[in-house]
Amino acid sequence: MLVLLLLGTDGPGVLSQAQTVSGIDLKAIDKSADPCRNFYQYACGQWMEANPIPPQYARWGRFNELLDSNQQVLHELLEDSAKHQDRSPVDQKIGAFYSSCMNETAIDAAGDQPVQPEVKRILAMKDKTELAAEVARLHNQGVPVFFRFGSTPDFEHSTMTIADVDQAGLGLPDKSYYLGTKDEELRAKYVAHVSRIFQLIGASPTDAGSKAKAVMTLETALAQASLDRVARRNPHLTHHRMSVSELEALAPGFGFKEYFKERSAPAFDSLNVAVPDFFAAIQKQLTAASLEDLKSYLTWHYVSAYASELSKPFVDANFDFYQRTLTGAKELQPRWKRCVQSVDNGLGDALGRKYVEKAFAGQSKEKTQQLVNIIEKQMAANIDSLPWMSGATKQQALAKLKGVTNKIGYPEKWKDYAGVEVTSTNFVADVRGAEEYEIRRRLVKIGQPVNRAEFNMTPPTVNAYYSPLENNINFPAGILQPPFYNSKADMAVNFGGIGAVIGHELTHGFDDQGRQFDADGNLRDWWTQQDAAEFKKRVDCIADEYSKFSPVEGATLNGRLTLGENGADNAGIRLAYMSLLAGLEDGSVASGKLDGYTPQQRFFLGYAQIWCANQRPESLRNSVRTDPHSPGEFRVIGVVQNVPEFAAAFSCSAGQPMVSANACRVW
Ligand SMILES: [Zn+2]
Repeated sequence: MLVLLLLGTDGPGVLSQAQTVSGIDLKAIDKSADPCRNFYQYACGQWMEANPIPPQYARWGRFNELLDSNQQVLHELLEDSAKHQDRSPVDQKIGAFYSSCMNETAIDAAGDQPVQPEVKRILAMKDKTELAAEVARLHNQGVPVFFRFGSTPDFEHSTMTIADVDQAGLGLPDKSYYLGTKDEELRAKYVAHVSRIFQLIGASPTDAGSKAKAVMTLETALAQASLDRVARRNPHLTHHRMSVSELEALAPGFGFKEYFKERSAPAFDSLNVAVPDFFAAIQKQLTAASLEDLKSYLTWHYVSAYASELSKPFVDANFDFYQRTLTGAKELQPRWKRCVQSVDNGLGDALGRKYVEKAFAGQSKEKTQQLVNIIEKQMAANIDSLPWMSGATKQQALAKLKGVTNKIGYPEKWKDYAGVEVTSTNFVADVRGAEEYEIRRRLVKIGQPVNRAEFNMTPPTVNAYYSPLENNINFPAGILQPPFYNSKADMAVNFGGIGAVIGHELTHGFDDQGRQFDADGNLRDWWTQQDAAEFKKRVDCIADEYSKFSPVEGATLNGRLTLGENGADNAGIRLAYMSLLAGLEDGSVASGKLDGYTPQQRFFLGYAQIWCANQRPESLRNSVRTDPHSPGEFRVIGVVQNVPEFAAAFSCSAGQPMVSANACRVW
């Protein structure tokens, strides 16, 4: 499903933040740095110095601190539920799930037994006509071999849910890893990892090596036919309504009828085929690959999908490649953290419900709602005042803004997981059961009206999102805390934190991608040609600006991949700043100096300090290829150079690095 997040999700919680009058973390500031030369260093320098990345992490930032503190809360809740499973159905579900995850002795003793029955089924296939049914079985268990099949709001009638098939099936994080001339070493490590997994389920080293090579060949062909991340940001390139027979014609050798039947999908005549060329490529591979090679491909993905739930050798191998090699993390996280994560993934609403009762104060919801109202009001004023947009397009933009709904904290209705059996003794079975339940829940939506009240993030999540197809913004309870929002802190700092986040999410409805959808969430062009051209000119400025940033030796940011997020950051801070000015005017923001800083300075420090982070070079190299968000450093300096009010607040002069001669501004 198409959603725009606040940040990437490669893992980064009670805060070390010194309680100050303003809410600014004074200990984080590097007074020896010049805010006009490098504001990120100024705002975060001492924090970075004092917070080296723990060995279990690829990056460590303020987000991680908050996530970590949320995890401590969840940990206590789960330990308690595990001891009192008879107290309620919710305690039984999450307590038993957590217990089966924590029972490392039983997991290690089981070895590869939990995955052997499915592996045997795969190996027993007699010819390629059995493939569709086996792929369906794997998809039901959350293993995305070849492609994904699920449901999505219809791009053209966004209140209805339709069936959707899309590219998938790669084991490396991006298509470019298969094709890049500089990635040979990484590919060799990947093949070695795949081979290791085959050996762990009993293959000889030689046999495992040739199976791994076959997997690589097949995945490379799929990678070649995949649409890249930048292209996928254009909704027109992933929107192709087709009849089922048109899909079948793309890959006649696969047997989609059989597949849909095995998935027990609701009946449908047409569906969205996100990337038609990809399905043509599947057809080619069905002919080119031997039955043995196809079995190897399915087996690898199945075992890999459950590797982190299996015994220690699997967990270690999985960590070694997907964490150590790809992100630079040095050690596994403690088991309890991985188990907290597992319950959040599998039974998120049951755990989230407890989290909200314990950690989300009632008034936080109201307070956030008030802030959203303030930022929305400023956005309307901002649209009205845009010098480059015609009245006709402004009217449409204002209508879209008016149509934005917001959801704060947690869903109105909790999922009950009644159909999920939790054994408390077989961890793989428990994870699989939760996975099957969620996949089924989404699949049966095909043909049904879209339920816009649903939350696509669990309550403890430290993130937020905008959904262009639903035209709503969503803030889980997990993010509505310091350093983003602190009810005891000065409002200038809160506007720089949660204010900018709210502005960021709202702007996603109007970024280069979101602007293509209308107030109802339909893919419909509401722009005059002239205004669209003016918009494009302005976002190009942002794309060029960020493309010059180099977060790690030998790599620069992809200004096109990160365009929507950078645009949202740039407009988000403007809306929050306008709200600050309104607050100073009406007296709701303290106008004098606090902790030695003016309200304007506190605002920009509040913004910058949410992004304080350290990140490993391996993780940065992976991020620039896969993450549509810029690293924290550039979310700060990329934005402030475009904002003349920043230069004024810190008395920076033209020609200094934080004052761009060519300041970009869209909204
Ligand atoms: Zn975002």
